[in-house]
Amino acid sequence: MAKKKIDPIKEDLKKELEKLKKAKQKLEKKDKVKTKKIEKKDKVKTKKIEKPKKLTKAELKAIQEEEAKRKAEEERTYEEELQEQLSEDEIKNFIIAKLDMNRLIAKVCELLLDKEENGILQTDVWKKLKLSTKDGSRLSLKMEKMGYITRQKILKNGRWTYTLFIEKAPISFESITDAPCLTCTVEQKCSLENELPEPSPRNCELIEKWVLLQYSRKSKKK
Ligand code: SF4
Repeated sequence: MAKKKIDPIKEDLKKELEKLKKAKQKLEKKDKVKTKKIEKKDKVKTKKIEKPKKLTKAELKAIQEEEAKRKAEEERTYEEELQEQLSEDEIKNFIIAKLDMNRLIAKVCELLLDKEENGILQTDVWKKLKLSTKDGSRLSLKMEKMGYITRQKILKNGRWTYTLFIEKAPISFESITDAPCLTCTVEQKCSLENELPEPSPRNCELIEKWVLLQYSRKSKKK
């Protein structure tokens, strides 16, 4: 029986076909792995979207506090607005009708002297002196301009306010409220240049007694 002759071209084609088949299978396998990876990623993403991380109470509180602080920082204080609206002179010359400003300033200084290092919240000062916020804020600006106090901006109950500190405490402020000149009926006419019988601190019995009283108070403190 005659041996079947192998066609070399057919044989080559067959081999090429085999190669192509294998390459195709390889590609299909790769695609499958890729698709699986993508599906897995999508699943994770979906999971993340569906289940947001639950915050603890402490985390929630911290976020809320941070937000409140940010809002408060954006807010301008009444005093900052006043400083923009009023001129230097308007601040310095501020007076409250029917009130003796010197006496009022002395009272504020006395209050602040008691809490020298810690200062006092301005609202507490205004409450003690029965002043409105409007007057109190203007007074604190005036006193700061005059160099009697300094103001420190602080955040209190989510709002910005100020703590007041005494800056200079001249001895007269400790008892200026009982200084005779403040209520003296001839204070307008009184002058160091005057000679008797015109009123002058140089010949005034009242001021002499007052100075002696201050001196004895000061000695007792020591
Ligand atoms: S020094 Fe005497 S007279 Fe002059 S204002 Fe004072 S209390 Fe009055």
